[in-house]
Amino acid sequence: MENILKDKICGWKNLSEDEKNNIFSFNEKYINFLNNSKTEREANKVIISELEANGFVDINNLDYINAGDKVYYNNRGKSVFAAVIGSESLENGVNMIGAHIDSPRLDLKPNPFYEDAKLALLKTHYYGGIKKYQWTTIPLSMHGIIVKANGEKISISIGEDENDPIFTITDLLPHLAVEQSNKPLRKAIEGESLNILIGSIPSESDKDAIKENILNLLNEKYGITEIDFCSSEIELVPAFKARSLGFDKSMIASYGQDDRVCAYASLQALINAKQSAYTQIGIFVDKEEIGSVGNTGVCSYTFDFFMNKLFEKSGINSMGALNKFYCNSRMISADVGAGMDPNYLEVSEPNNASYIGYGIEINKYTGSLGKSGASDANAEFVGYIRNVFETNNVKYQLSELGKVDIGGGGTIAYILANRGMDVIDCGVPVISMHSPYEVTSKYDVYAAYCAYKAFYESNQKVNY
Ligand code: MN
Ligand code: MN
Repeated sequence: MENILKDKICGWKNLSEDEKNNIFSFNEKYINFLNNSKTEREANKVIISELEANGFVDINNLDYINAGDKVYYNNRGKSVFAAVIGSESLENGVNMIGAHIDSPRLDLKPNPFYEDAKLALLKTHYYGGIKKYQWTTIPLSMHGIIVKANGEKISISIGEDENDPIFTITDLLPHLAVEQSNKPLRKAIEGESLNILIGSIPSESDKDAIKENILNLLNEKYGITEIDFCSSEIELVPAFKARSLGFDKSMIASYGQDDRVCAYASLQALINAKQSAYTQIGIFVDKEEIGSVGNTGVCSYTFDFFMNKLFEKSGINSMGALNKFYCNSRMISADVGAGMDPNYLEVSEPNNASYIGYGIEINKYTGSLGKSGASDANAEFVGYIRNVFETNNVKYQLSELGKVDIGGGGTIAYILANRGMDVIDCGVPVISMHSPYEVTSKYDVYAAYCAYKAFYESNQKVNY
């Protein structure tokens, strides 16, 4: 008999041993990915090496492409576009999934070094939406690149190895925090006090002695001087490792799951999906956390540049090919949503909230204050997605980001929807999003992989 009432059953219920094993082993690899991809540059590198290991080749090395070819484009070491070419012309549309590989963090300022109260420190400027108090008194690691004036590029990663030192931001002892404790949360820690403690031994000279000593150490190890930091991108991220969470090990706690969880699940889906008639495209983009701006963010025409390469190499030279491609394509914006937090029930409306462990979440729209800024997926496309998930036994839940008028947010969905694609947000619910230690359910991580794979394999068009 047809189910009249929509049911909401935990994903972990009624699973076979095999299914459970699949979930846990998939997540072991995901944990590994998180530990090796703490920045967008590191994620870019890991994604490209996985693509290459699975037969994808750099598009620049091919003169022609044919159905079945697997290609990728490395955009400046910070974002990746990949495609499995289908038998249908690109102009007839593609199945595309987009996730972002940048996460909130602290960036070094261009002139970071200074000395105060007999200690050496680094100035930072935070990146993305953070609650500043969460970033004090935790171990931080330092990742990034320094480019010398002669073009030489030095990569650094300090604080991940057990034998490395770590860094930290100090905070006031409670004994002297009477005034600080009375401030509103967002004022208690100022952006300009997110300074990284990096050393305390002075050099033998007397001017800026501790700072000089640190710069001497860096010069010996990396051959760099203070001026080289003006052409660097150094990010401070939590030095915690991704770990299984809970007695039942059903969850994952890690930095950077927004949005590397969807990046990982969609990468595995692209690699493992059966061929569709439609070309399958995966994009892994930078700068989502600050508005998808710049030439590595998805607002950039760099993606069009990649598409034009695909057209050219597959022999498409008609006027308006790019436009047709956009207007005929279907896309999942693979980004995380807010999981219901038992400590903060008041911000969510229980009928339209996501619960971790209950499957991939579909957000028909995001935005704030009356859906402002939202890409509101058409009901026809929501029906399409439901059909894909239901026929492949993928557990899904429909939700909003919090109660009406309580806040809001957005993803890359609107950017590609503006160009004509059917786009819908589907991702993994996260608790403590944007914090140094975000929480997901292993069930949902695997459900996202199954959902993305099913979407890639679809040969259907949206029925308008
Ligand atoms: Mn995100
Ligand atoms: Mn985010």
